[in-house]
Amino acid sequence: MNFIVELAYYIAAVLFIIGLKQMASPTTAQRGIQWAGAGMVLATVVTFVHPSINTNYILIILAIAIGGGLAWKSAKTVAMTDMPQMIALYNGMGGGAAAAIAAVELMKHHGLSTGVQTLAVVGALIGAIAFAGSGIAFAKLQGIKAFRASIRFPNQQLINGVVFAVAVLLGLVIIFSGNDYSLFILALFFVAALAFGVLMTLPIGGADMPVVISLYNAFTGLAVGFEGYVLDNPAMMIAGMVVGSAGTLLTQLMAKAMNRPISNVLFSQFGTSSGEEKPIAGSMKAIEAQDSAIMLAFAEKVIVIPGYGMAVAQAQHKVWELCKLLQQRGVMVKFAIHPVAGRMPGHMNVLLAEAGVPYDLIYDLDEINEEFKTADVAVVIGANDVVNPVALTDPASPIYGMPILNAQDAKNVIVIKRGQGAGFSGVENHLFYADNCRMLYGDGQAAANDLIHHIKEL
Ligand code: NDP
Repeated sequence: MNFIVELAYYIAAVLFIIGLKQMASPTTAQRGIQWAGAGMVLATVVTFVHPSINTNYILIILAIAIGGGLAWKSAKTVAMTDMPQMIALYNGMGGGAAAAIAAVELMKHHGLSTGVQTLAVVGALIGAIAFAGSGIAFAKLQGIKAFRASIRFPNQQLINGVVFAVAVLLGLVIIFSGNDYSLFILALFFVAALAFGVLMTLPIGGADMPVVISLYNAFTGLAVGFEGYVLDNPAMMIAGMVVGSAGTLLTQLMAKAMNRPISNVLFSQFGTSSGEEKPIAGSMKAIEAQDSAIMLAFAEKVIVIPGYGMAVAQAQHKVWELCKLLQQRGVMVKFAIHPVAGRMPGHMNVLLAEAGVPYDLIYDLDEINEEFKTADVAVVIGANDVVNPVALTDPASPIYGMPILNAQDAKNVIVIKRGQGAGFSGVENHLFYADNCRMLYGDGQAAANDLIHHIKEL
């Protein structure tokens, strides 16, 4: 490869790494995106002078224009709350692109060594699974009716296992038959891999989507890295491995947060219930903003638990304004963040950072859970699944085993939400029926505004 091209690919890879490093903190994340974006532009532009690309320029430019145009338009218009499905879609595109590269290389029959052929096949398998699985994840997150619920059928795990085994077997045939495999075998291999991606994702209907999304993210990275090796492209190798390892770490963190071993994520029917959940005792008790304001204003310690509904309501600025008012009155205020609150990893941290909440007021689940016992009020704003005590008490519940924020341990709980809407998992929340819990019904932003108004009047 031409020295300039190779050098440019290495520079692009360094830019990706710098970008990723900066994305680790909300304060530098935006700059991180720009560094990584610059790396991507460099890698794309330099590919035009790559010695092996001496034809098809029109097709390449056309593909970039269509893909880039669509991505530009959708990224500009996507609602913050729809980001997870967008990420699932882009993840899938990466996996699909890696699988397509493998398909083209394997169709050429150009005598790759067994080692490189193996990487091409493994990359193709992982990429195709990520592509198909992310498509289904997108459909679920988008709320498309046919996919929203967990889809199951008899002997599902056995069938999944057989389809996966067929894909692996066909992959082995391709690797060890030298150049003698037929296009039919190759096509069958891809069909089996794609089918496994779909089958593996269909049963997931509960609160475990975050683990799956980050798993596919890791898959896509690995697939791109392997295909980078096949193409002898250092930018793809390094970027793929960086995404693959970041995705793997994130998957581990998410799995830990959901209390699920990763093996469970791959082959078990998780996020499901036995259908015999415990009935709920008690009733939901409403409270007015004025009474809530009094409770908050005269508290010593308040813990705020934001969730997906705060993002929908774009209430983060008002929530912070409310908290500053309480601080001025001498109330100790802390924020408790569940690792899967919202619809993407770090969702709440990003929103609170945007509103200017200082980091030293924001606590992770492990850091704050013991403190609920000493809190006068826990304010749950737009959160539901992440504070549902059935995760601790009811083995029949689909979310059983997921660690939760122990809001129920606070002396009083105020839940701000619009009505009786369920959380992402669709599981009824026992906290809302507890004796120490009051429901402040309304949109998150409007409710926070009302509280501010009433506290100012005290
Ligand atoms: P949930 O989805 O459990 O609950 C959100 C609640 O917000 C709803 O019950 C809804 O009730 C309320 N709400 C919606 N809009 C508003 C509004 N405008 N104002 C006030 N309240 C509103 O959210 P959590 O954050 O508690 O839990 C996240 C869930 O999402 C978990 O199950 C997690 O596994 C899953 N998930 C997480 C991902 C991640 O990476 N973080 C990715 C994908 C899924 P109502 O309609 O009555 O207002």
